[in-house]
Amino acid sequence: MCAPRVQESVLRRLSRRDFLKFAGGVGLAAGVSACAPPPPPVAKPSQPNEAKFSFSQVVDLTHTLWPTFPTFGGGQNYEEEVLFTFEKDGFNMKRWSLVEHTGTHIDTPFHFSADGWSAEQIPVEKLLGPLAIIDIRAKAAENADAQLTPDDIKAWEAEHGPLPEKGIVAMYSGWEEFVNSDKFRNADENGVMHFPGFHEEAVLFLLEERDIVGIAVDTLSLDYGPSTDFATHYAWLPQNRWGMENVANLGQLPPKGAIMVAGSPTIQGATGGPSRVIALL
Ligand SMILES: [Zn+2]
Repeated sequence: MCAPRVQESVLRRLSRRDFLKFAGGVGLAAGVSACAPPPPPVAKPSQPNEAKFSFSQVVDLTHTLWPTFPTFGGGQNYEEEVLFTFEKDGFNMKRWSLVEHTGTHIDTPFHFSADGWSAEQIPVEKLLGPLAIIDIRAKAAENADAQLTPDDIKAWEAEHGPLPEKGIVAMYSGWEEFVNSDKFRNADENGVMHFPGFHEEAVLFLLEERDIVGIAVDTLSLDYGPSTDFATHYAWLPQNRWGMENVANLGQLPPKGAIMVAGSPTIQGATGGPSRVIALL
């Protein structure tokens, strides 16, 4: 017999929705009845993705990170120190000092909640999925404070069909072309930034009406630049969803058909971190 607390601790780790799937599969029988110890925080693989796909093209959705890459706060938040050089020591090694939210990076659920998943706790199968790219370049070109709204999602679906289950939704605002200039932050004389983001209503729609594991933006923040309440972050991340900021090269992909892999770091307790983001097409 399993000690009751073993079962409890296993079940506590699972949301109700995950539990129902877990209980319906072999996981419950194998994991709990066999009295195995509870899995470590990063259970792998708890929900194997049964979708089969092939790909012929790989697109890097990651910006190269350099010391003065634009930051949300405006300062430099990345430094490196050379520890060893090949010339002197026979090998190269550096030490980095950086803010977690630098460059192309993941926002974990823990970033905006007390007990959401930190980086190493995000189940690995939730870090990839079919990618839907919603192009709002036209309205972003007219208004730097444009937001991706439920109407943008519905317009995408009218053309391309329903958003894919367990998918990832990316906002394509075209902001990437400004990454080497001040326009990426686009701060006005009062320091208020102006760039596009997801509207809170859009992520509430995704949470309530669709099955989406993560969202991505080609700007510095999930929320649009002028936000002071971070309503989108607060609506989305605490629901154990993640966001990816400063993604690149969305224009090299079709609106649907690619699989996105969010290469999150696995640093214990991380609220986010520079990530390698790859699309398979
Ligand atoms: Zn961030």
